[in-house]
Amino acid sequence: MKYELVIGLETHVELSTESKIFCSCGGHSAAKEPNDCVCPACSGMPGMLPVMNKRVVELAVTAGLMLNCNINRYTTFDKKNYYYPDLPCAYQITQLNHPICTDGCVTLKTSEGTRDIRIKQIHMEEDAGKLVHGGNSSFVDFNRTSVPLIEIVTQPDFRSAEEVTTYLNKLKSMFISGGISECEEGAMRCDVNISVRPEGSEEFGVRTEIKNMSSFDAIERAIRYEAQRHMDALEFETEELVQETRRFDDVSGKTFAMRNKETEADYRYFPDANLMPIIIDDEWLEKIKANKPEAVDEKAEQYRNAGVSDKEIDMLISNNKISKLLDDTVALGCNAKDAATWILTDCAGVLRKDGKTFADLAITPQKLSDIIQMVDGGKINRVAAKKILIAVIENDVDPIAFCKENGLDRQVDSSAIDSIIDRIISENPRAVEDYRNGKTKAIQALFGACMKELKGAGDPAVIKEILEKKMS
Ligand code: ADP
Ligand code: MG
Ligand code: ZN
Repeated sequence: MKYELVIGLETHVELSTESKIFCSCGGHSAAKEPNDCVCPACSGMPGMLPVMNKRVVELAVTAGLMLNCNINRYTTFDKKNYYYPDLPCAYQITQLNHPICTDGCVTLKTSEGTRDIRIKQIHMEEDAGKLVHGGNSSFVDFNRTSVPLIEIVTQPDFRSAEEVTTYLNKLKSMFISGGISECEEGAMRCDVNISVRPEGSEEFGVRTEIKNMSSFDAIERAIRYEAQRHMDALEFETEELVQETRRFDDVSGKTFAMRNKETEADYRYFPDANLMPIIIDDEWLEKIKANKPEAVDEKAEQYRNAGVSDKEIDMLISNNKISKLLDDTVALGCNAKDAATWILTDCAGVLRKDGKTFADLAITPQKLSDIIQMVDGGKINRVAAKKILIAVIENDVDPIAFCKENGLDRQVDSSAIDSIIDRIISENPRAVEDYRNGKTKAIQALFGACMKELKGAGDPAVIKEILEKKMS
């Protein structure tokens, strides 16, 4: 029989905030040593009270807008109770009854065409701490407790592992470009719910949930393994499928049962009376909307219209810092296609030579724009511009002053060019001879010698033209 795969995802995303969700401790990335970012509140000392981080609400709403959700104007927190050493209060603050966003939708482009995945809800919650096992002891690190998360729950709308990966990559670019999350390793974790059913059937099969995976590669392998296990169970009655929670073992590539699936009742949810309901009024919502970054699709379209290549667009939308540098440079009057090349080819080249990456790039939009505009205005040529760019990236010099000090903007008058070309020709009779005998490549050496003599000043196209004229 042919089977159809049915998958729903619950994705936890760590938010890029400066502080934790309910206290003023630094966010996750601020921590250097275990238990660096811990206070009485986030380590669960008796009598401490949570204070809501406003920025978390704004980022959750922004994510909801990007995923076309309804933003619920009345939103509340609940306690989810369970006992585990990395959860000092013995409950997690999350949202059950009134999540912040509901009923969204995201469109995927796959090899089969476009697919709409419905978003059931997005809710805000705090992360748990981390247990570290060593020797015959276990340690607990509270740096991650109360780090803000959003959990994005989809409807069971995925039909293949490919769709899942496409969705996760889309969320990732969206959240990086929108400043929602840096989405670095471990900051995006997925629970994958899977079932299979005979093709054409309307009813869902028994589902299992594979918990807490953070590598996209592992997620894909886990889905393939689990789907096959379900199909074998249905086709050959190898085992009875039960609704349960499983874990994926990266080494064997298999999934293993962890526990029977908890039901809501197991967690004894109840409203968190320590936190007031949050009311999002029109004024606040409008402000969040006004600050909302463009959706990835719109942004890609805008770059495409400006003539930026698809490969460059991919690089730009997955790197917030670089796309912001481009946008700010364009805002100063530069052409987007040109600026993209300056950043993604020229700046990248200088960085690579110095063994650095875009993360190390500190050029300001103003300095980059100054260089580009000097070229566009015919004040300097690209060779000179490249020298200036290197000096700016490596030593943060002022491009206009550096250009003057080094005579890179020397407007070479045509009589000076003439006399240099004449001299080069008379000093290289062999090359001239070769050229006249049909070896047109010989002109390259003469051109190089002229450029060297002119120290990069003067327009290469003009020099080439004069040289060719004189030679023939
Ligand atoms: P629970 O409350 O038990 O966690 P939810 O309704 O919140 O269940 O669903 C959790 C996730 O499981 C959602 O992403 C949903 O799309 C997915 N899901 C639900 N039923 C199925 C199914 N039969 N097969 C695959 N995924 C499913
Ligand atoms: Mg659930
Ligand atoms: Zn704290």
